[in-house]
Amino acid sequence: MDLSFTPDQDALREATTRLYGKESHGERVREAEATGFDPALWDAVVTMGLPTMALAEGDGGAGASLTDLAAAVEVHGAHLGSIPLVDTAVTARLLARVGGADHLATITAGAPAALGLRPANAGVAPLVPGAAVAGIVVARDGDRILAVSVPRATSRRTLASLAIADVDLDGATVVAEGPDAVGAYEVALDEWRALTAVAQAGLARATFDLGVQYAKDRHQFGVPIGSFQALQHRFADLHARVDGSRLLAYEAVWALDEVAPTARAIAAQAAWWCGEVADEAAGFSLHVHGGYGFMLEYDVQLHVRRAKATRLLLGDPGHELERIAEHRWGAHAPDPAAVVAAATDRPTRAGMDYRFDPETEAFRSEVRTFIAAHLDDEVVARAHRTGTMHDWGFHRALCERGYLAAGWPTEVGGLGRSAIDQCLLSQELYGSGAPIDGLNIAAMVGATLLLCGTDEQKASVVPRILAGEVMCCLGYSEPDAGSDVAAVATKAMRDGDSWVIDGQKMFTTMAHEAHYVFLLARSNPDAAKHKGLTMFLVPMDMPGVEITPVETMGGERTNITFYNAVRVPDSARVGEVDAGWTVMHAALVYERNSANWGEPDHLVESVAAWAREAGPDGRRPFDDPAVRTTLARASTELEVGRLLLFRAAWLSSLGEMPQVEGSMAKLHITEAFVRASAALLELLGTAGLLAGGEPGSVLGGLVEHAFRHSVVTTIYGGSSEVQREIIAGRGLGLPRNR
Ligand SMILES: Cc1cc2nc3c(=O)[nH]c(=O)nc-3n(C[C@H](O)[C@H](O)[C@H](O)COP(=O)(O)OP(=O)(O)OC[C@H]3O[C@@H](n4cnc5c(N)ncnc54)[C@H](O)[C@@H]3O)c2cc1C
Repeated sequence: MDLSFTPDQDALREATTRLYGKESHGERVREAEATGFDPALWDAVVTMGLPTMALAEGDGGAGASLTDLAAAVEVHGAHLGSIPLVDTAVTARLLARVGGADHLATITAGAPAALGLRPANAGVAPLVPGAAVAGIVVARDGDRILAVSVPRATSRRTLASLAIADVDLDGATVVAEGPDAVGAYEVALDEWRALTAVAQAGLARATFDLGVQYAKDRHQFGVPIGSFQALQHRFADLHARVDGSRLLAYEAVWALDEVAPTARAIAAQAAWWCGEVADEAAGFSLHVHGGYGFMLEYDVQLHVRRAKATRLLLGDPGHELERIAEHRWGAHAPDPAAVVAAATDRPTRAGMDYRFDPETEAFRSEVRTFIAAHLDDEVVARAHRTGTMHDWGFHRALCERGYLAAGWPTEVGGLGRSAIDQCLLSQELYGSGAPIDGLNIAAMVGATLLLCGTDEQKASVVPRILAGEVMCCLGYSEPDAGSDVAAVATKAMRDGDSWVIDGQKMFTTMAHEAHYVFLLARSNPDAAKHKGLTMFLVPMDMPGVEITPVETMGGERTNITFYNAVRVPDSARVGEVDAGWTVMHAALVYERNSANWGEPDHLVESVAAWAREAGPDGRRPFDDPAVRTTLARASTELEVGRLLLFRAAWLSSLGEMPQVEGSMAKLHITEAFVRASAALLELLGTAGLLAGGEPGSVLGGLVEHAFRHSVVTTIYGGSSEVQREIIAGRGLGLPRNR
């Protein structure tokens, strides 16, 4: 996996940015509004070779990939280029594929082209973007692909100026016909979807950045408006969604470049998501600009109109959701064996490559084989019955295989696997329903001890964690310290070589199975809040430790733990005295980078499989458009989450410690999980009411349970609001609000 540009793509992006900075700034976009076309910009991009670069050299192009072209298109979208760049590039590639050399020559000679995005009606290709200025228009009528030179185009005034026109196809040349021609046309439309998604992602980022800058500069009530939490949190959500739209758009062009079997579904997902996010980002940016956003002098109103207009060019965006469902699970879904083969059989490529490395794919197979051999239904059922998301037998098997520390270096007992492998392992386990709360907590404590613990802790505790002999729990939260965890009141008083701990911890999950609690306590009440804390590793069998069970809506068992004059030696301390916040910070970063995508993904795929089965009345739920769009929306949101999650893992694999990226992934995935479980439960109707084990319950109550459980994922590990604070502050540099 590689999410970076090649040096050539970087250079292209820079050159395009310079060109558009000069030729497509706000004033020029306004000047071109009357026609939707800026001839000087067009001449400049033709000189640079952009419209034809993704044609083969033999066809007059530069043999560039769609991904190469996308590096320029993203800039074009960000600058609201008033030229049909994507339309021309895609039309040229279509003509090259169907043997339309004569017409292609018009484009390689420098003319703009336009593509009818919707089938012709009564001899007219309706509302074709770019057609008002194109030297050639290509459209589909039934199973024929038609080309019109010097088109008779009736310009239409539209929401945003895109040189849209109705094109009379009377007298058009038939370039190709039959099923192959229709297939080639469909590919062209997918290329248009993917490249337009890239342009929308560029627009979304540009309009978002404009809004953030305005929020930093504009003062009301004596402070920058960007310090208001109501704005910060929307910015934080959007930051993740906008980054996700770029990742998904590039995944679509990559998949088309690779002719991946999943390309069509991903192109539709990108078209839907990137359009929605561009629309949303521009709308919010305008809102942040207050009344000034409506003034024509301000660029943000151009963003709003361009984003929405582009989104409507294919028709009702909701139809893209239908298309996603059709190409993921419906009649046009790819053969699963072909998907697996495509994931493993292709050579790696330079720059952006969304495929996992062959070693990672092999590791995934190994993990799946392990899960199939070691996780039985009884283990999962017992975890749900007891609420203890841990099973000693399964845990020890995981540890024996080295999976607790798959990503740790081999010198400290790990498998030395990459952060991407580590992430994939977690997602496979989550997706299988394995009870792994214990595994996650033990791994997190072990990793933090390696970083901050004493030699003795590293030598005595870490090996036993690795062997699956020792379980830990986290003693952070207290009755009056939740999100504000640095407010803990549990006291740790020095007494000679010992410490005496007094206090109460809330939600100490796994305490009833644990040998140690990783406990944050106030060691210096006179120091500033974050500076008077110390971390301890307290054995749970010390006199004075008491555990009271707590049951939760999601079925998970957690605990309240009490510490009454618990005496521990100084060797139980982790990190320096009063430096507990530093230790805590290391532990929290691990937590944020381990979002659970596997479980919601399993949920959506399970419901999709169920929906395709005919019920007792012989009808398939999947045949209901409402079911298809709900599934498509959920799966697209989760695909964005998957990309955000693996982006963070990829950054880790490069040696970085992603903080904001981990928060973005956690925020997006957990919120998407809540939305998906609620929407899927409603989709089941009254059958959704039935708990697992009840006659007639769907999928063993999977959705009903997900609905009860998903909400907690937006609370523990740092609530959504806490993640938004991190993203707004550290990620966007918005001023503090507290
Ligand atoms: C099932 C379960 C298991 C858990 N396991 C553990 C565990 O093992 N160890 C452990 O230490 N803790 C654990 N927790 C506790 C968890 O980490 C906390 O619940 C979480 O940090 C939130 O704290 P709180 O519940 O006190 O809510 P509060 O912090 O009181 O938050 C209440 C609401 O206010 C919002 N809010 C808080 N601060 C802000 C802000 N600055 N801006 C905007 N909104 C804000 C929150 O997002 C939330 O919506 C667990 C919780 C649950 C439910």
